[in-house]
Amino acid sequence: MKKYIHLIYQQTQKLFEACLPSLCLLCHLPSKNSLVCEYCHEAILTERSYCLRCGCGLSHTQPFCGECLQHHFEFTQLHAVASYQSPFPELIKQLKYNNHLLYADLLGQLLANSILQRYNQAQLQEIDYLIPVPLHKKKHRKRGFNQAQLISEALSKHLPVEITQTTLTRSKLTNAQEGLTRHQRTLNLKHAFSLTEERKVELKGKHIVLIDDVVTTGATINSLCQVLLAADVKRIDVWCICRTELQ
Ligand SMILES: [Zn+2]
Ligand SMILES: [Zn+2]
Repeated sequence: MKKYIHLIYQQTQKLFEACLPSLCLLCHLPSKNSLVCEYCHEAILTERSYCLRCGCGLSHTQPFCGECLQHHFEFTQLHAVASYQSPFPELIKQLKYNNHLLYADLLGQLLANSILQRYNQAQLQEIDYLIPVPLHKKKHRKRGFNQAQLISEALSKHLPVEITQTTLTRSKLTNAQEGLTRHQRTLNLKHAFSLTEERKVELKGKHIVLIDDVVTTGATINSLCQVLLAADVKRIDVWCICRTELQ
């Protein structure tokens, strides 16, 4: 029952949002039928130097960060729209905790624009699946949606090539990762993800892009990547809105 009430709430909210005058979600000035005005768009999608592998911000001109030289990430490359800095945490919060689903459209659109600066058409065509990082079904039910999935759906509307979307399940309800050491995070995530034999066959040899809102240490992503690599996927990239900076 709760699920249906949530569905009705979501649909009503979508309808309500569709009737809103076209004002920029950030500065609230007229935005010519776009979610953000061109000034805000230009101001927040600034060029940043980042590690070509893990996506964290860099202040120097080297291609990779020190962290990547010390720790192994299972994915090939991570692309983030921005570091964890204003206004992105606020935009994600509006989506995740205040249920403003319109922000998923905005974040998906910003991610698409950012991706198009890094990947060309041919590279995009090589991707087989977009997969949002799954939430455990208990958490999914409580929130009513998976923010990564909404961002992924919005993103695909703004990419010039069509990429199949698929979802995976999270088999273990893990404790929050905040405050845990790297080793504790890895233990916490043990057996968090699993694939059925059918999915393994489906994903074998495929180029996958994982979608998430925020990547912090990459422990969750790495754990999911290990499961996918064990199923012989060809390559995994990660696209996210924010990549937190290394301490
Ligand atoms: Zn604006
Ligand atoms: Zn790095």
